[in-house]
Amino acid sequence: MTAPDAFATATSAAALGKLARQLAGFLTAARADTRAPYAARALHRAFDTLAARLPPREPLACRAGCNYCCHQVVSARAAEIFLLARTVRALPAAEATALAGRVADAAAATAAMDVAERHRRNVPCPLLVDGRCAVYADRPLACRAFASHDVEACRRAFAHEPATIPVPRTAMALRAFVTTAAEAAARSARVPDDQYELIGGLALALADPQAEARWQAGEDVLAPAAARRLLPR
Ligand code: SF4
Repeated sequence: MTAPDAFATATSAAALGKLARQLAGFLTAARADTRAPYAARALHRAFDTLAARLPPREPLACRAGCNYCCHQVVSARAAEIFLLARTVRALPAAEATALAGRVADAAAATAAMDVAERHRRNVPCPLLVDGRCAVYADRPLACRAFASHDVEACRRAFAHEPATIPVPRTAMALRAFVTTAAEAAARSARVPDDQYELIGGLALALADPQAEARWQAGEDVLAPAAARRLLPR
C-alpha cells in the first residue's frame, strides 16, 4: 500500500467513527474517575499508534532536552487538561506542590498576554522543569504532534529571526484527524470541550478539586482559558 493509501485508510470515515465511539465510551464510563484520564490517554495512544505507522519521510531534528517548542502557546482538550491535573497531583507531595505553584504563577503572569506577547517573551511552559517535560508521558496532543525537520529553524524562530519551521505534514494531519474524533466524542458524551490554552486551563483544573466533576456535569469550567480568547480582538 502506498503512503497516501495508508494514510487514507488510517483516517477513513469508518476509522474516525470507531475512534469517536471509543472516546465517547470512555467519557461516559460508569466510573467517573476514569473518564478524563482514559479518554485522554486513548486519544494520545491513537495519535502515537498512527504516527508510528505513518512516519515522516524526512528525519526529525527533535531530540531529548531540546525545548524551543515548549516556549510556544500550547492548547489542549478538556480531557487532556484534567488528565494532566491528575498527573500533577499524583506526584510526590513536594513535587506536586512545586509544579502546581509553577503553573499558578505562570497563569497569573500570562493572564493579560495575547499570543503575540507570549511569543515576544518566549514564555516557557511551567511543566518544563530543568529543560525537560515533567509530564512527558501525558503531554497533550499538540506537543506530541509538533515536531521539526530543522533545529536551526527552531533556533531562529526562538531568537525572533525570520524562520519557517518545517513540520511533518503527516503528524499535523493526524492531529486534525484525532481532534475531529475527540470533538465528536465530547458532543456525543455531552461534556463541554474546546481548545483550551494549557497554562490557564491547567491552573483552573488544579485550583479547584471539584473542577473535573463540574465539567462532567456539563459546566464549561475551563471556558476562561479558551484558546480563542488569546487571539487579538
Ligand atoms: S507539556 Fe511538556 S512537551 Fe508540552 S509544552 Fe509543556 S513542557 Fe513542553
